[in-house]
Amino acid sequence: THFGFETIAEALKEQKVGAVFSSVASSYDTMNDLMSLGIHRLWKDYFVRNLNPGSNPLTSPSTTVQGWNILDIAGGTGDIAFRMLDHASTINNDAHTRVTVADINPDMLAEGRKRALETPYARSPRLSFVEANAEHLTNIPGNSIDLYTVAFGIRNFTNKDAALREAFRVLKPGGVFACLEFSKVNNSLFDAVYKRWSFGAIPLIGQLVAGDRDSYQYLVESIERFPSQTEFRDMIKDAGFLVPGRGWEDLTGGIAAIHKGVKP
Ligand code: SAM
Repeated sequence: THFGFETIAEALKEQKVGAVFSSVASSYDTMNDLMSLGIHRLWKDYFVRNLNPGSNPLTSPSTTVQGWNILDIAGGTGDIAFRMLDHASTINNDAHTRVTVADINPDMLAEGRKRALETPYARSPRLSFVEANAEHLTNIPGNSIDLYTVAFGIRNFTNKDAALREAFRVLKPGGVFACLEFSKVNNSLFDAVYKRWSFGAIPLIGQLVAGDRDSYQYLVESIERFPSQTEFRDMIKDAGFLVPGRGWEDLTGGIAAIHKGVKP
């Protein structure tokens, strides 16, 4: 049946994405640094600084619960979560903001848990890791999250619209959806250089450093297939969000972009 084909195709895609991330989990940081020449760290720093976790309440403040309740989806290695907690503590003097890192891949979560041991949050109730599929966040109640973040994750999701609808459901009214993702370079000369780099060098670096050309080839192709800034902004709107301004901010000429939506 049509339904049967669809589920098989989706299951295969999910399996493929799973294999890619299991295979890159341990060499993940080195590869990111090589692939982006270290720039992914600056993008992540900016993303977190710009969201300013633990500052004024995003949603109507509760009288009993302080700090922000953040859900970092596809957050496997904890990169965004640790930055969020550091920012809330050191910049906003807030010891209550907490982050749940959700990821579909147990190997990425294991890597994140391991890294957490080197942070002050390892045994803190402010940080937790859960295995979950962004498209069905069954264990996360509706209207419970202040800030939903997804960094370099959504382009791997089988059904991005379903994930956006789930983001909308779990956020409180006034809550913010924020996505950091590879996007479309907006200068044709720069784009030509960038394409040479990504299609030429990245699979080769993958082969040499991680012994895994195919996973890195997949990553490059998934970036190419991901919607443009305006298309993605429209998908966010279609899920019910209000988008501030034009809806996104380009980083490094559009190699990456930050998209935001607010749940009315
Ligand atoms: N956010 C981290 C960062 O910026 O370094 C990790 C990004 S990594 C490129 C993409 C992550 O998306 C992987 O950990 C993968 O397991 C996760 N992922 C892929 N599909 C997912 C899904 N449907 N639900 C939740 N996580 C998913």
